[in-house]
Amino acid sequence: MSQIIDQFNRSVEYLRLSVTDRCDFRCVYCMSEDPEFLPRDHVLSLEELSWIAQAFTEMGVKKIRLTGGEPLVRSDCDHLVASLGKLPGLEDLSMTTNGSRLSKLAQPLFDSGLKRLNISLDTLNPELFTQLTRNGKLERVVAGIDAAIAAGFTKIKINAVILRGQNDHEVIDLVNFCRERNLDIAFIEEMPLGVMDERKQSRHCSSAEVREIIEQAYTLVPSSKRTGGPARYYQMPDSQTHIGFISPHSNNFCHECNRVRVTVEGRLLLCLGNENSVDLKTIVREHPGDIDKLKQAILEGIKRKPKEHHFGKTDEVQVLRFMNATGG
Ligand code: SAM
Ligand code: SF4
Repeated sequence: MSQIIDQFNRSVEYLRLSVTDRCDFRCVYCMSEDPEFLPRDHVLSLEELSWIAQAFTEMGVKKIRLTGGEPLVRSDCDHLVASLGKLPGLEDLSMTTNGSRLSKLAQPLFDSGLKRLNISLDTLNPELFTQLTRNGKLERVVAGIDAAIAAGFTKIKINAVILRGQNDHEVIDLVNFCRERNLDIAFIEEMPLGVMDERKQSRHCSSAEVREIIEQAYTLVPSSKRTGGPARYYQMPDSQTHIGFISPHSNNFCHECNRVRVTVEGRLLLCLGNENSVDLKTIVREHPGDIDKLKQAILEGIKRKPKEHHFGKTDEVQVLRFMNATGG
C-alpha cells in the first residue's frame, strides 16, 4: 500500500505526469485556437520529471501515465521513458498520445520499455478530424495506431470524446474500427474545462446516450475489467474489444480516486476538477538532490486532496485551466 494517503483514507498509487503543455493539434474541447504556452524555464527538465517520479514511486506509486499536451512533441521523450522504466516498484508505465508521431516513434518507445498506449481518435472522417483537431491529419494517426500494433503494443486503448451533433453518429464506426484491430475503446464525456459557454453545454453527450447507440448494434455485457482509472467497462460476446465509459458528469468516481497529477510546471494537482495544487518545481530547484524534502511536500500536499469534484453542476465554472495545461 502507498504511503501517500489522503484525509479520506484514499491511497494514491497512480501518477499522471505531464511532459509538455505543447501540442501539434488544437482539439476544440482541449485548448483554444491560439494558446499561450509556458516559457521554457517554467517547464521541468527530463531530469526533474524523473526525480519527481522517483519520489512518488519510492512512496508506493505503482502506475505512471505520461501525458500532456502531446508527450511526443517533446524530443527525447523515449529517454524519459527509459529512465522511468528503471524505477523500482513501478509496475505500469503508459502514455496517452494523439498518435500523430507514432509512425516513427512507436518502435523506439516500445523498445525503451513503454508497454501501454492510449491513443485519442474521435472520428474516422478525415474532414471532421481536421475540424475537431483544427489541423490534424487522420491518416497519420491511423498509420500511427497501426505502427503501434506492429511494434508490439498489445494493450492499446482508443480514447474518444463524443460531442453531440458533431461525431455522435460515428460511435459504431469507432467501435468497429477497434473490433477489427482488437483494441479497447473508452468513450469520454467532455469535461467542462476552460470557459464553459452555451455551445459547450449543448454539445454534451452522456455516456448513457453513447451506450444506447452501441446497444442498437451490439450486446454489451458488464466486464470486471478495471484499469485503475475511472472507466466502467463492457464486453461484446463476439469480440475481445472492451468498451469503457468515462463519465465525470453522470458517474461520480471520486470516492475511489487513487490518482494525482503533476503538470509540466511541477504543480501537483490533487483533483482534475479543482484548482488545489502544490508547487513542486520550487522545491526541486531550491533543494536539488533532496528527495526527502520533495516527499515531505507531497505528503503535506496530499492532505489537501478534496473529497470530490463538482463537474455535475454544469452551470458552475470551476476550473479555468485547459486540458493541455492540466495533463489529461
Ligand atoms: N495529446 C494527448 C492526447 O490527445 O491523447 C494526451 C493529452 S490529452 C489532454 C489526454 C486526453 O484528454 C485525450 O484523450 C483527450 O481526448 C482528452 N481530453 C482533452 N480535453 C478534454 C475535455 N475537455 N473533456 C474530456 N476529455 C478531454
Ligand atoms: Fe493536443 Fe491531446 Fe489536447 Fe488534442 S487533446 S489538443 S491532441 S493535448
